[in-house]
Amino acid sequence: MAPLSLKGLRKSFGKVRALDGIDLDIADGEFFCLLGPSGAGKTTTLKAIAGLEPPDEGRVEIGGVDMDGVEPYDRGVAMCFESYALYPHYTAYDNMASPLRSPRHRLPAAEARERIGRFAELLGISHLLDRNVGELSNGQRQRVALGRVLVRPAAAFLLDEPLSHLDAKLRQAMRAELKTIGAVERTTTLYVTHDYVEALGLGDRIGVIRDGRIVQVGTREQIWNEPADTFVANAFGKPRINLVPGEIAAGGRLRAADGAIDLPVDAGLAPGRAVTLGVRPRDLLLLRGDEAPPDGTAEVGARVYVTEVLGRQSEVTVTAGDQRLSLVVPREDASGLAPESPVRLGVPAGRVLLFDPSEGGR
Ligand code: ATP
Repeated sequence: MAPLSLKGLRKSFGKVRALDGIDLDIADGEFFCLLGPSGAGKTTTLKAIAGLEPPDEGRVEIGGVDMDGVEPYDRGVAMCFESYALYPHYTAYDNMASPLRSPRHRLPAAEARERIGRFAELLGISHLLDRNVGELSNGQRQRVALGRVLVRPAAAFLLDEPLSHLDAKLRQAMRAELKTIGAVERTTTLYVTHDYVEALGLGDRIGVIRDGRIVQVGTREQIWNEPADTFVANAFGKPRINLVPGEIAAGGRLRAADGAIDLPVDAGLAPGRAVTLGVRPRDLLLLRGDEAPPDGTAEVGARVYVTEVLGRQSEVTVTAGDQRLSLVVPREDASGLAPESPVRLGVPAGRVLLFDPSEGGR
């Protein structure tokens, strides 16, 4: 059993506080994604777990055992760095085999061959095994590096942006493979990324990190539907969530965008209270002709600003009062929407999130 537990991890580099009290519990066999912007402390967290960057304060437990004083190679974790350190003059096969030849992790030759073959196939690099790594493309090398980590039976995998050098199509394919590997191996995996699509697609649960702190942990539904604050809400979704300053008005209504938005809200907030209204572009409706808004949906008058085709859907940016709002609708619904033409939007009250304008919290 190898759950991972981080308690109050702090780490500074000179004046830079890289980790500012990281608390995190990852269950045995869980595939956990840590998402955050550049410099948030993702790599430092992984290095603290691997024992490569000891924290100034706090505890790392792997499988319930305190890792204080335990050397990196005795921790039972396998880590893949974004800058993969492969042996350029070795073949891909020998690179993948190298961890299995070390005295600590030696596997019987037949078992090593079987594992390398299996992971090479899952990663789509079987045909590259005899090639020297120095001759491979960046994306191919990255897959070899990932293979080298995964072949070694470990208590936990620590993966740092392992798909960052792959093109979009391959990345998508590899996400599916990684999910399969995760499901088959059931090895606790901590996967670091700054790509929200990757986090939503891969993680059993997701943790969002900002400025060395975990700001929210949850399932993809929780993170998407109930973001803890505007930072988390902004980090997921493209186009980004619409965030509009507003105010609670008498009679339990929310008014925003110079009065263009006027919705009933059931938040128990006092009139006059300033709020930030959040609504995702995919949750807004475009009402056609004289179509009445569905139950529980408020109507908002707006004007088209610009439309942009995104594959089968279109992003429509509109102006409502003094605000710009984005919505994503089927492409055919947006065709013929000329700039400046009046439109009516439906804002489903149940999909509206309210945030505190100063702290950003819900
Ligand atoms: P990225 O997505 O860009 O890799 P990250 O979330 O992994 O970012 P970290 O690499 O953990 O972020 O860095 C967190 C902070 O600590 C950053 O401000 C970084 O500059 C600083 N930092 C990390 N390692 C060192 C180091 N060895 N010396 C000095 N500062 C460091």
